[in-house]
Amino acid sequence: MASSNWSAPLADDLGPTGAAAAPLVLIVEDNRDNLSLMMDYLSNKGFAVRAAHNGYQALELIPLLRPAAVLMDIQMPGIDGLEVTRRLRAMPDLARLPIIAVTALAMSGDRERCLAAGASAYVSKPVSFASWPSC
Ligand code: MN
Repeated sequence: MASSNWSAPLADDLGPTGAAAAPLVLIVEDNRDNLSLMMDYLSNKGFAVRAAHNGYQALELIPLLRPAAVLMDIQMPGIDGLEVTRRLRAMPDLARLPIIAVTALAMSGDRERCLAAGASAYVSKPVSFASWPSC
């Protein structure tokens, strides 16, 4: 990873202030540039957005924040997104949480591995926001 001294807060709330009804999306992503792109896009779409920079932060924040949906990077140092997804699914309260796996691997079998780990859906990087449903 390029920047070893990244000192962003644990969870950036870039959502519109005062928009209490904005659904919260939590993005789990270790790459600063990817995270920035996704946070900008989703906050411009009116979502409240928070970030976890690795799997451990994700496992701390998701049960606390109860986001409406999670974008889960798969390739991360420490525990990867597949393992984070498995651990979240083992929490009864989070069995139905929408988890969208995001991976750069795009290899045959990735989709199946993500879904088998408990992901609700799968997209491959680079994420093409043009193909996302408008909301
Ligand atoms: Mn990554």
